[in-house]
Amino acid sequence: MKYGRTYNFSAGPAMMPEEVLEEIAAEMMNYRGSGMCVMEMSHRSKAFQTIFDEAKADLKQLMGIPDNYKILFVQGGGTVQFSMVPMNLLKGGVACYVETGAWSKKAIKEAKKFGEVKVVASSADKNYSYVPDCSNLDIPDNADYVYICENETIHGLTYRKLPNTKGHVLVSDQSSMFLSRPCNVADYGLIWGGVQKNVGPAGMSIVIIREDLIRDDLDDTLPVYLNYKTHADADSLYNTPNCWAIYCCGKVFKYLLKNGGLEAMNARNEEKAKVLYDFLDQSKFFTGAVVKEDRSLMNVPFVTPSKEQDAEVVAASKAAGFDNLKGHKSVGGLRASIYNAMPKEGVEALVDFLSKYEKEHA
Ligand SMILES: *Cc1c(COP(=O)(O)O)cnc(C)c1O
Repeated sequence: MKYGRTYNFSAGPAMMPEEVLEEIAAEMMNYRGSGMCVMEMSHRSKAFQTIFDEAKADLKQLMGIPDNYKILFVQGGGTVQFSMVPMNLLKGGVACYVETGAWSKKAIKEAKKFGEVKVVASSADKNYSYVPDCSNLDIPDNADYVYICENETIHGLTYRKLPNTKGHVLVSDQSSMFLSRPCNVADYGLIWGGVQKNVGPAGMSIVIIREDLIRDDLDDTLPVYLNYKTHADADSLYNTPNCWAIYCCGKVFKYLLKNGGLEAMNARNEEKAKVLYDFLDQSKFFTGAVVKEDRSLMNVPFVTPSKEQDAEVVAASKAAGFDNLKGHKSVGGLRASIYNAMPKEGVEALVDFLSKYEKEHA
């Protein structure tokens, strides 16, 4: 890799496309003749407004976002959305959640502070190694929404088919799969994603919300920043936004558009993940943690026969120039996060390493 960069398998913050980092570096000291870095630029300036407008328009094009949806750039990272969703969408009814791992559990815990929560399906019985059948969920009539974590970053699960919400609003946490594959936005009431997994620097979420879900009756009760309406009314510029993150995300949107959009990303991601899964499937030493049908293309957890050997592989991989392969502390083992910006060569190099390791140690 150029610049002595490493194949970074971190679950987030994660790799950015090299070309994007180079562009950012080139514009660092003087952004297009403005005499300043984007970091130093007023969010009310014309130069920033252009960056902002283009980022929004490019995202709209990339995802094919219909006109009746608002795109919001909200600070605070993904965790803030665990609260904002129930605060804004619960209207005295029931919030339905599908429990598939650590991130949906966090969302459930938070929603319980704001109203009645019903877990309509769970894969806790098998340590979140599969996505439960969501074709005929028991959803109460007064459900205000049905919530999923569409890609469980820690457990490595993804939905191949969206739940049948029986006409209720679908809310999805797409943090660790955002822009990794095509997405029919009209199937959802609200999509949100923390950007540091697949798009940009940490500390911001992108929220895509259907306009009719933005409420007028919360101005006097919700903290102003936590009300989606605040961000919708001010076009995400109510206060100083995370200008730097918006700028970097905008660069990535342009990069994705230039490289074939989400169809092309999906094809690349399928191909890349296959290299690793094919290896794991034939290995007698390494075992994938998730049932085949529900495996994530982004986060690949796997284990060796013992915790001690897990740790030994992690240490050896680090010495060999691969970074952040340790599984999340809550589940252990190993995990390779292979987001959009991880080159296929990185996955191939990892498989070469693991394969050699198996021959020498197993
Ligand atoms: C990382 C992550 C979050 C939390 O994001 P923060 O920005 O760290 O708060 C939420 N959901 C999923 C699926 C994630 O991967």
